Amino acid sequence: MIQVLDLKFKEYITAEQIQARVREIAEELNTKYSGKNPLFLGILNGSFMFIADIFKNVNIPCEVSFLKINSYQDTSSTEKIKELIGLNQSIEGRHVIILEDIVDTGRTLDYILRTVLAQKPASVEVATLLYKPSATIIPVPIHYVGFEIENQFVLGYGLDYNGYGRNSNSILIKVDE
Ligand code: 5GP
Repeated sequence: MIQVLDLKFKEYITAEQIQARVREIAEELNTKYSGKNPLFLGILNGSFMFIADIFKNVNIPCEVSFLKINSYQDTSSTEKIKELIGLNQSIEGRHVIILEDIVDTGRTLDYILRTVLAQKPASVEVATLLYKPSATIIPVPIHYVGFEIENQFVLGYGLDYNGYGRNSNSILIKVDE
């Protein structure tokens, strides 16, 4: 059992499982985006480890940019969507791959997709490390899913609980007491 602030967690997805799946997704991207000069848009903060590990395993010419959005407080998703910060480079005509940590209700990704599509990229795909299918409120297209998970709060590998727990190599899941 691992304590983070007032909550208890247990290991859910090991570091080895994450690394193996990240390599598989990167291989798919290497094949699909060869010769397309893709632009990765990493959504901070929770995705920073996923972005880095995907990027280390992509071996075709490509760029990466970082965007920031915050739609989450405490352990439940809120309807409050703040501004998408950092889209200051032109993405018109580019092949864009959005890198997300987790898709829960779909609200955040829906907002990001609408903002990105408004800038007329050549194509947009989404890769998310984690996906909670049973939490979906707004269905969004997701092209690469690391792991489908149950509708329970997780942290680690970049994901936090009120700022803590990001520095775990594995994904941990909340244990009900
Ligand atoms: P959505 O808008 O899809 O409901 O929520 C997406 C965002 O909520 C994610 O980018 C992430 O910041 C946060 N989130 C959703 N579920 C979890 C979870 O289980 N753990 C953590 N740490 N963040 C989550």
